[in-house]
Amino acid sequence: MIPGVGPGADEVLAELTRLRAGDAPTHGGRTLAYVYDSGLGDLDELAARAHAAASSANGLDPTAFPSLLHMENDLVGTAIELLGGGRAAVGTVTSGGTESCLLAVLAAREGRRDVVDPSIVVPSTVHAAFRKAGHLFGVRVVSVPVDPTTFRADPDATAAAIDHTTVLVVASAPSYAHGVVDPIPEIAAVAREHGVRLHVDACIGGWVLPYLRRERVGTRAPAFDLSVPGVTSLSVDLHKYAYCAKGVSVLLHADAELRRGHYFASADWPGYTMLNPTLQSTRSGGPLAAAWAVVRHVGDDGYAALARTARAATEEIRAGITAIDGLGVLGEPDSTLLAVALDGDPGFDLFTVADELAARGWYVQLQFPHESSPANLHLTVTAANRGHEDALLTAMREAVTSAVAAGPVTLDDDLRALIDALDPEALTPEQFAGLLAAAGLGAGPDEDGPDEDGPDGNGDGRTGDGQGRGPGRPIRLPDRMAGINAMLAVASPRLRERLLAEFLGTLYRPRAADASP
Ligand SMILES: *Cc1c(COP(=O)(O)O)cnc(C)c1O
Repeated sequence: MIPGVGPGADEVLAELTRLRAGDAPTHGGRTLAYVYDSGLGDLDELAARAHAAASSANGLDPTAFPSLLHMENDLVGTAIELLGGGRAAVGTVTSGGTESCLLAVLAAREGRRDVVDPSIVVPSTVHAAFRKAGHLFGVRVVSVPVDPTTFRADPDATAAAIDHTTVLVVASAPSYAHGVVDPIPEIAAVAREHGVRLHVDACIGGWVLPYLRRERVGTRAPAFDLSVPGVTSLSVDLHKYAYCAKGVSVLLHADAELRRGHYFASADWPGYTMLNPTLQSTRSGGPLAAAWAVVRHVGDDGYAALARTARAATEEIRAGITAIDGLGVLGEPDSTLLAVALDGDPGFDLFTVADELAARGWYVQLQFPHESSPANLHLTVTAANRGHEDALLTAMREAVTSAVAAGPVTLDDDLRALIDALDPEALTPEQFAGLLAAAGLGAGPDEDGPDEDGPDGNGDGRTGDGQGRGPGRPIRLPDRMAGINAMLAVASPRLRERLLAEFLGTLYRPRAADASP
């Protein structure tokens, strides 16, 4: 051991445990977004051990680390088998769904170098990863409104949006926001007719829908995978419903020619020839090995059972929510995601319901209004929710009762005027600070001031640390977010983007190296 350096391993790990205790729980089904819990006790340890066994290996050179090549080919082979790929199908393991979607767009753009002003045609419900792809790769995103009540993509409108600049059409299986599967066979036919690629974003449904469809357990989802003529690529995240540790997704292409465009090589420097199938160059073997171990261990029958379990929980939660006065579920969810909205004008709001749920230890994700989709609460249901549906429904009923008693949050007229007057393209730091103050959000205590509400200093137990320096100290988040969310809900999407990006910048502030834990 190196003598006389920092705290001992046990102490450092104890500190990590203390920090993690303030996070949203990742197990037990109480966090209904961001995390996926199989409910199987042994998976975490298996993943951790496999991760540790390979985290120092580098996927940068698969000839130096053939184990990584082997595991990647295994995972891609399993995914192809599950998702209807033919004998020519190939794939790539990426760091996550966003990277898979980015690479699908990049490959499509590179496959059509003749198109000067490339564009992609997407349903308006498509995951924001495709907006990011457009932003990063200089590809225009042509958004086609979905059916206003089913929230499914519209094949005719999609056809009408395709032009000579279209390098890719995208559809979702299912969409993140509403959990509905787009009419993939019809859209694939349209894409094929126009000679354009079609990417199916099955990031969240790709490890569930095949099992539900195979066993005919309560989904009416249409065929959506690579077996549908016209589907040229598909993304599926293993760190979602394959219940793998974070950092693994698979991008499949119908053949190697379609994949070529997302490979990158550069020999134009004095070092090694850089040869990258993904956006990363050095790639840890950890997430790959963890996923490989988990996928092998759970196996096809295990995933079939997990998919059935998660779907059954989803159906039960959906029925229970629909029975609550004033709540409903948007669309006809095909998989394991629910969007909970107000039914009519019941005299309470969902922002308060979300706060009340959080106060009871349940965490849901707010989805703001967009086109025909009203504000709603997103629920990602996993196998761990099975058998505990009543606990969630009870919390939901209590949260609604409290929200009714509190009445809807009202926005102060002055604040509303302030928001309406803001130009997102010209937002100044002063305006942002003014808005924060108006919303009752102050900066956390500075280094000179005592930190009174506990070790993490902000009372919310999650973000911010009260130890920032300089003028932009971390913000002290209130326990109740309804007021802020109501404010964000009336902002335009562009203004919301600007405000939240600005806000993020206030969260990420360096802690002094010698700050107390
Ligand atoms: C989660 C998700 C993504 C993005 O995946 P990340 O792993 O969060 O980067 C893309 N598309 C859909 C449909 C998703 O659900």
